[in-house]
Amino acid sequence: MRKKIAAVFLVVSLCTGSQVLAQEHEQEHEHGHVHWGYTGHEGPEHWGGLAEPFSACKDGRNQSPIDIVPNLDADLSPLTITYIPGGSEIINNGHSIQVNYTAGSTLTLDGQVFELKQFHFHTPSENTINGESFPMEAHFVHADKDGNLAVLALMFKEGTANKELAKAWAQMPQAVGGQESLHQTVDAAALLPANQGYYRFNGSLTTPPCSEGVHWIVLKESAQASKEQIAQFSKVIGVPNNRPVQPVNARIVVE
Ligand SMILES: [Zn+2]
Repeated sequence: MRKKIAAVFLVVSLCTGSQVLAQEHEQEHEHGHVHWGYTGHEGPEHWGGLAEPFSACKDGRNQSPIDIVPNLDADLSPLTITYIPGGSEIINNGHSIQVNYTAGSTLTLDGQVFELKQFHFHTPSENTINGESFPMEAHFVHADKDGNLAVLALMFKEGTANKELAKAWAQMPQAVGGQESLHQTVDAAALLPANQGYYRFNGSLTTPPCSEGVHWIVLKESAQASKEQIAQFSKVIGVPNNRPVQPVNARIVVE
């Protein structure tokens, strides 16, 4: 009898043990801690199969990035951007270098207000424009009060050193997981070009879980960064961190 009870306890504790493991696994998925990258078995062509929550990476029909070839001329209204200086923190998340932004900067689309949360970089560019790739692309990520996302993309060409970028680059963490409070607050508005003509289309996150329903705005005019600034970023990330362009399918790309 004693033995039987012990056996029952053992079974119960084993079950509990595996449940805990399963939950931890779930949490890992929820928090996006499944390993993914830009090369080999964890590269973009495998993202959709790495974890169930990443299925949109292979099954989605409105994935980003794309090669932007506008197919509707719609006389778009000017962008409503109200940015205040707020780039306060720089992090190396292993996939990109990201500048976190304090509250109070907004982008308004069709009367809907999206707040700037962070901006980060890709090299080379993820989106291409009429087949043209750029050496670097910044993504300004905004969310509305319901969590809907709008990403403003800005291309960088190689040219003169970018003074606003330099404020962040001065404290770029070399190690994955590194995080620094910026000594000089970065002003996202100072990174934007004078001409804010843009392309607009629907897309997704360009990293797992590749969630769709993201409003994409890509500025037509590019900014400049020096060869050294671009190289500093690509050296820290170590690999090209651009997902290849995805099929446009039935999407309308407005200009
Ligand atoms: Zn991005």
